[in-house]
Amino acid sequence: MSFDFNSFGCMVFNDKAMSERLPPDTYACLKESIDEGLSLHPEIADTVAEAMKDWAIENGATHYTHWFQPMTNITAGKHDSFISPQKDGSVILNFRGKELIKGEPDASSFPNGGLRNTFEARGYTAWDCTSPAFVREDTLYIPTAFCSYTGEALDAKTPLLRSMSVISEQGMRLIKLFGNHTSKRVNATVGAEQEYFLIDRDMYEKRLDLKICGRTLFGARPPKGQEMDDHYFGRIRLKVAEYMRQLDAELWKLGVSSKTKHNEAAPAQHELAPIFDPVNIACDHNQLTMEMMRVIAKKNNLACLLHEKPFANVNGSGKHNNWSLSTDDGFNLLEPGRTPYENMQFLIMLSAIIKAVDTHADLLRMSAAVVGNDHRLGGNEAPPAIISIFLGEQLTSALEQLANGNNPASKHRDKILEDVATLPTIKRDDSDRNRTSPFAFTGNKFEFRMVGSSASIACANYVLNTIVAESLDEICTRLENSSDFDSEVRAIISDIYKQHNRIIFNGNNYTTQWVDLAKERGLPNLCDTVDSASAMIAEKNMEMLIKYNILTKVECVSRYEIMLENYIKVITIEANTMLEMTKRQILPAVIKFAGEMSNSYNSLVKANCPNKNLQDMVFNLSNNISEISNACDILEKAVTNLQDISGTHDIAVSCRDSVKTAMERLRCSVDATEVIVSSEAWPMPNYTDLLHRV
Ligand code: ADP
Ligand code: MG
Repeated sequence: MSFDFNSFGCMVFNDKAMSERLPPDTYACLKESIDEGLSLHPEIADTVAEAMKDWAIENGATHYTHWFQPMTNITAGKHDSFISPQKDGSVILNFRGKELIKGEPDASSFPNGGLRNTFEARGYTAWDCTSPAFVREDTLYIPTAFCSYTGEALDAKTPLLRSMSVISEQGMRLIKLFGNHTSKRVNATVGAEQEYFLIDRDMYEKRLDLKICGRTLFGARPPKGQEMDDHYFGRIRLKVAEYMRQLDAELWKLGVSSKTKHNEAAPAQHELAPIFDPVNIACDHNQLTMEMMRVIAKKNNLACLLHEKPFANVNGSGKHNNWSLSTDDGFNLLEPGRTPYENMQFLIMLSAIIKAVDTHADLLRMSAAVVGNDHRLGGNEAPPAIISIFLGEQLTSALEQLANGNNPASKHRDKILEDVATLPTIKRDDSDRNRTSPFAFTGNKFEFRMVGSSASIACANYVLNTIVAESLDEICTRLENSSDFDSEVRAIISDIYKQHNRIIFNGNNYTTQWVDLAKERGLPNLCDTVDSASAMIAEKNMEMLIKYNILTKVECVSRYEIMLENYIKVITIEANTMLEMTKRQILPAVIKFAGEMSNSYNSLVKANCPNKNLQDMVFNLSNNISEISNACDILEKAVTNLQDISGTHDIAVSCRDSVKTAMERLRCSVDATEVIVSSEAWPMPNYTDLLHRV
């Protein structure tokens, strides 16, 4: 069944639907708000709401919801129906402007980091009219931002929207200085490549760890993992291909331009990449993508795992956040052009980013910190926890030349495949790909590869937008105050390169030499969520976030609290899940199996042929049972001890240093036992079942 591309975006109240259904002056007014990134004019709200309601009902909606993104990395919304009862017992369908613009969900049950008390529960949602409404199942979804009664942001979107105005303002300042007087806005654009695992639903249902925590807490290394490199870009199995087809079709109807799909490095791992959008829409679309991935998996008797590290010993999943800046009339500020070394506006942009990333490396690292990502960053497959920038030799050398007061020149670009007559000659790219860098320049955009697969991309992008805006602000001030523009441009590039080149690293980020070198250069190496979280309340970062009106001090502190609270909750749930699985599934199974082995041994003794190997096996099993029980006790104590600690930070530290260590010990003893127990006796599907039986 092929997709009818006339129905692309058919479930979205997009520009086409608006222009068809709104009176021309209303349409013009709304369009102006959207294009300029402003809020809806209250006078047209009723007309827009009415048209939106009629359109939604025609597309099967009976309800509407203010769809928002609390700080849980997923979305939320309460669903209200359009019905309004009449005196005669019938109903009419109603949706007024004020219901479109504002909602009032209870705010006390979402993470708020101490901002809200349950007795003062009111919260508000406000329509972000720059991200279009859409219909899913029976509901009209209205993308909104979410704040408390007192106006503090309680969501991921609000700071993102604020940062979009700030980067637009500073970006405009720069391009005006370089002579652009036609563009009206600068948009941060983002394409988020999403990695995921797809496994058999029946197997998934049999694993408490997957169901509760989204990752395996136990599991011995399978005979075959990803060492053969036969999965990456490999043939897509029929069942998976059908899943991807359905997923694309649903996303396309919702206006999500899913573009690329392929198998990833680990068995059962795949990737979806959309075409990039302005960042607030990209953020909404990525949330929708994750939700649809889960829903469609279930429909196909599959389970989609979005956790950063569902399986030990094979690659985890990330989200490559491709970020760039473009004007409203389509000019990409990170496009180097044919002669990048002469393109001063481009080199200034690069310099702004270098300064931004070096100055706020800790904050950028923090923006990718979620518990699941701690297993991934620093492993040998994902970027390390150290932030650095990959520019490639050509660009690095251009900046270096300028810093040394020379004129950078082009390097020879050679051709490849010239010797094969039937193939087209290919011009070699300016730089090779560097897969190991956390923040890589990839032609006309930066790819921030640290973001976790389950995380919202909002934080990473409001951080990127803000730190770059701050750099641009300083650069523009220098340029505006200078009498000799051209030499000031060169001076700025040179100054920034000299001050911040420590953040540039074009080598292999996976090596231990890099870790040492980074330390020598004084770059932060924040290994886990607990350490990274403090960047949120570091003075220089808070000052910037406050200055550009992204977050208030209170909001920064609350976000810091939320990160740590979430860390504690996840670790505690994982630990308790491990304890339950061990006590109620694993230990009983191993004890039963050991009993059977011991019976077999006794039978052989009775038959006068005692078997030494069998005796050793029974002995080993018995030892493992003791080791598992001990490890279980230690973990239980570590969890109980948390109750005696006060202060979020100290509890989080104890989770990391003692609970996680105890979890590792328990896992180790269970995994060592799994390989000496028969597969029939093992109480849950093993890694081979999970990874190779889709
Ligand atoms: P890969 O990174 O695998 O080489 P591509 O370079 O084709 O793949 O694109 C990866 C992602 O980057 C896609 O989601 C794409 O839409 C996005 N992308 C491309 N150009 C831009 C841009 N100017 N701004 C933001 N994202 C972009
Ligand atoms: Mg990529």
